Amino acid sequence: MSATTVESVEKRPALTSLSEEEIMFQSSFREFAEGEVRPRVKDMEKAGKLDPELIKQCFEIGLMAIETPEDYGGAGSSFFNAILAIEELARVDASTAVFVDVQNTLVTNAFIRWANEGQKKKYLPQLAESKVGAYALSEAASGSDAFALKTRAVEKGDHFELTGQKLWITNGNEAEIFVLFATVDPDAGYKGITAFIVEKEFEGFTVGEKEDKLGIRASSTTELILDACKVPKENVLGDIGKGYKVSIETLNEGRIGIAAQMIGISQGAFEAALNYSSEREQFGRSINTFQGLQFQLAEMAVEIEAARLLTYNAARLKDEGKPFLKEAAICKLYASRVAEKVSSMAIEIFGGYGYVKDYPVEKFWRDSKIGAIYEGTSNMQLLTIAKMITK
Ligand SMILES: Cc1cc2nc3c(=O)[nH]c(=O)nc-3n(C[C@H](O)[C@H](O)[C@H](O)COP(=O)(O)OP(=O)(O)OC[C@H]3O[C@@H](n4cnc5c(N)ncnc54)[C@H](O)[C@@H]3O)c2cc1C
Repeated sequence: MSATTVESVEKRPALTSLSEEEIMFQSSFREFAEGEVRPRVKDMEKAGKLDPELIKQCFEIGLMAIETPEDYGGAGSSFFNAILAIEELARVDASTAVFVDVQNTLVTNAFIRWANEGQKKKYLPQLAESKVGAYALSEAASGSDAFALKTRAVEKGDHFELTGQKLWITNGNEAEIFVLFATVDPDAGYKGITAFIVEKEFEGFTVGEKEDKLGIRASSTTELILDACKVPKENVLGDIGKGYKVSIETLNEGRIGIAAQMIGISQGAFEAALNYSSEREQFGRSINTFQGLQFQLAEMAVEIEAARLLTYNAARLKDEGKPFLKEAAICKLYASRVAEKVSSMAIEIFGGYGYVKDYPVEKFWRDSKIGAIYEGTSNMQLLTIAKMITK
């Protein structure tokens, strides 16, 4: 295999055919990622914070409300296009990608699916225009066993009083609107779980400490504290006691978003390794002329292609209204493994330079690790897949 053939692997379009419209969206997402995100990545990583100007731009170009119907101020586009956006952003910066991912695949998604007309009219335009959303399910003692959550909602006349603490909440520092889960009846188990729309300004609500993380460092991950937080009754999202459905169904879709984030990371790491290998010389020749290294690049390309096809397939099934639960779990599990593997191989292709922060690949590797943890750990995905194939 010649070096030229290796390069053409990267340039070859994904095997899944994209429509003209999807290619157009993909190109505009890439242009934004290259033009606006890339120049800020190093500073945001160092600061552990997304640039507020970049956040503003995400709203301005419609990235924060991709699926939101135009009547509510959104782009009225498909879930598949949201997936393309997340992938393109993660190819450059996984923190920006998860910021956009949570807004689209979890928060807005929950509103589109579960909110009543009044809630849609009130909140969707805000989420499309300028307000960041967050999705608050996890607590210190309930992660995989999410429905063991302890945050309590007590009915008090015209409002609920919420008391408890949420942990690990993505976009916690930037968000103004939270889809937050609490139980109205701890004895009822999962049937007590209820979804609430909580605004940052509500009495009794505070954002706590931000986590100091291994990867996705510019993405804020915070604690939320609810101290008799007053939430109006009209802010119950879906029905009382049906929060488990809101949560399961949004997370099923969210997982495809995480898979997209992981293929973006893989692609970014792969391209960096491919470029570096054509520039670096050892033994008097470019290292990408060694077949051993070409095989590593080919291995990476194959894995990315496989993960991408699994992810695109799950997204298309979702858009077509077909069952996609197993496919979502498979693509998240596989794409997160691929991201770790490919970014690790990229570090090795960079040699010593791969191990230092002057080059991009160590960040891709650190950013990849979260794919096996959030929105259901890899074991939880295996559990879902096992249940589906043995039932
Ligand atoms: C950076 C970051 C961002 C996050 N963002 C959000 C967010 O925006 N909103 C939100 O609600 N949450 C968020 N989370 C929380 C995340 O979803 C949880 O961390 C995740 O679900 C795992 O829960 P846990 O950390 O409590 O691990 P645990 O559930 O304690 O799991 C520990 C280990 O035990 C394994 N395990 C547990 N139960 C089983 C079982 N039955 N069978 C086999 N293995 C099992 C797990 O696979 C894992 O390996 C975030 C987490 C991080 C780190």
